[in-house]
Amino acid sequence: MTLTKELIRRLPKAELHVHLDGCLRPATLIELARQAGLTPPAEDPEGVAEAMLVSNAANLEEYLERFSYAVSLLQTRAALERVAYEFLLDKADENIQYVEVRYCPVLHTPAMSMEQAFEAPLAGLARGAAETGVRFSVIVTALRTMSPTVSSRLAEMAADYRDEGVVGFDLAGAEQGFPAEEHVKAFRIAQRHGLGCTCHAGEGDGPDSIRQALHVCGVQRLGHGTRLLEDPELENYVAEQRIPIEVCLSSNVHTRVVESVGEHPVRRYFDKGCVVTLNTDGPLMDGVSLTDEYWLAHTECGFSREEIDRMILNAFESAFLPDQEKVAMVARIGEELQGIT
Ligand SMILES: [Zn+2]
Repeated sequence: MTLTKELIRRLPKAELHVHLDGCLRPATLIELARQAGLTPPAEDPEGVAEAMLVSNAANLEEYLERFSYAVSLLQTRAALERVAYEFLLDKADENIQYVEVRYCPVLHTPAMSMEQAFEAPLAGLARGAAETGVRFSVIVTALRTMSPTVSSRLAEMAADYRDEGVVGFDLAGAEQGFPAEEHVKAFRIAQRHGLGCTCHAGEGDGPDSIRQALHVCGVQRLGHGTRLLEDPELENYVAEQRIPIEVCLSSNVHTRVVESVGEHPVRRYFDKGCVVTLNTDGPLMDGVSLTDEYWLAHTECGFSREEIDRMILNAFESAFLPDQEKVAMVARIGEELQGIT
């Protein structure tokens, strides 16, 4: 059987690690920039896609700077709602049937209240879900560079919005020099309220950062975890404990954590029995769709169709959803996958 990109696009998929402010459609970005009285980086969508693409960041910090521009356009409720709505339509377009999207509400204040910053994307996602049938959940992201008091407030508020679709809590941003353990209280709050926890770790810093995320903050999933291989003992632990890794291949190349997709340790992690999931991180800045990421895994890392199906099921199985719902979803997706050849 020949695997094609079109076939991968048709496979039912789930995505667990994607930032809403990294998902603006280029055409929407132009409109929002004009509405905000700003000059868009280019006059046409192709130019914007090119301008926003981070293929030459020196490091994670430089990559994150590109997000600041997108965030500056998302300072009204209407803009946030629209981008969240369009995000879900785009996910449906490549047969993503479940998505956990993350955003940091604080970045949209004080232009709006924290409540509005929580609610505007949720409203857009709910509208998109009603139209497409895509199941969505939200992960609230706190930033390492912010005060731990802010992180704790975000964790408290995340719990208040559980009925609207918030399922998890995450810590992101510049990793080096900003240890996760400073935000341990926020993780405890999230855990006490039954939220799933994940953390960007092992991307801009080494295994010690991963250890903190797992052993101090108690997260159930690892965001990136790219540098896990530097500590084989920890790597074995992650494999044995079946801790899902949210792998973002292209993003890791763009932030120079790895030289190329082909040299990414994803193959090694998969072969060691780690629960590998594939994700886009920031589709606009990374210039990729989830389909592209699976295609790269196939063409650059040698993942077979069977292994791709395994990673797809890993993503559904690793969702921050109740077990009962996941079991039913995984059974249905497993059947669908078998039917697509
Ligand atoms: Zn990320």
